[in-house]
Amino acid sequence: SQVYEKGLTKSRQGFSARFNKFLANFRSVDEDFFEELEDTLIGSDLGFDLAISISNQVREAVKLENIKDKKDIRDLIIRLMVEQYEEQGQDEDQSMHFAPKGEPTVILFVGVNGVGKTTTVGKMAQRYKDEGKKVMMVAADTFRAGAVKQLQEWGTRVAVPVVAGAEKADPASVVYEAVEKAKAEAADVLFVDTAGRLQNNVNLMQELAKMNRVIQKVLPEAPQEVLLVLDATTGQNALQQAKLFQDSSEVTGLVLTKMDGTAKGGIVFAIRDQLHLPVKWVGFGEKVSDLRTFSAEDFVYGMFK
Ligand code: GDP
Repeated sequence: SQVYEKGLTKSRQGFSARFNKFLANFRSVDEDFFEELEDTLIGSDLGFDLAISISNQVREAVKLENIKDKKDIRDLIIRLMVEQYEEQGQDEDQSMHFAPKGEPTVILFVGVNGVGKTTTVGKMAQRYKDEGKKVMMVAADTFRAGAVKQLQEWGTRVAVPVVAGAEKADPASVVYEAVEKAKAEAADVLFVDTAGRLQNNVNLMQELAKMNRVIQKVLPEAPQEVLLVLDATTGQNALQQAKLFQDSSEVTGLVLTKMDGTAKGGIVFAIRDQLHLPVKWVGFGEKVSDLRTFSAEDFVYGMFK
């Protein structure tokens, strides 16, 4: 898709420029070839194990299918990367989950400060609004100066109401108020923009557990999604954050932001491989329209373009 192509410019300049150069120099599928392939894959933040695994799969397939042609090798690598991603889980957990009709769907956004949570909430609000849904947002980050204001600005921009408590209010109580309001006003979706303070794992766990309890007081089946937002430009760091959050909350999927600013799109595959968490959305920029649902196939083709 065009968006992936545009958004992955950096990935292309890094990963695919390197990849295409090494394919251009291709003479034969010998050990040098596989060494260079492994280096290229590791350099794209795919992670060591996965890079070796893909390289081994290429090795086998090359033999089995007697592949010699440059273009065929390229297609093979693309195919194997897509398969690698999709094997980790089927489409079922890839799509968003919603509450039964007549009940608000609650979507929690978690992640450390600066990864792009608020921006993603704003973009997604516009997106669901465009689909005809009645959307509400709540600013549950009551500690960070400016966080509430930032969400309110998004609320104005996309014309979606924002529930916000007093400064330093208990985030759980603000969320409770928002869930009650969403139910009373028959909203379809409520986005919860949580605080990204990460002093320690215990605090985070307690805060998210408390938030879940108050939400479930009103809506026993909620939240339907806990989306962990990760900044793709942080590479392997994003993987570490994902591990931490996966331990402390029931993450249902990932949003990978700032894909426009990284040459390391391979982190998508490393995270999928190690944590089995589906990437549900990808952010490509700061504009409202720079958010797309994730497709492994489009993504890989975008990387190699
Ligand atoms: P939060 O602290 O997690 O809520 O992060 P913010 O939503 O405030 O985003 C932090 C910064 O990253 C802001 O300057 C955003 O404009 C920027 N940002 C968010 N998503 C993207 C993206 O997909 N691409 C780019 N280039 N910038 C982004």
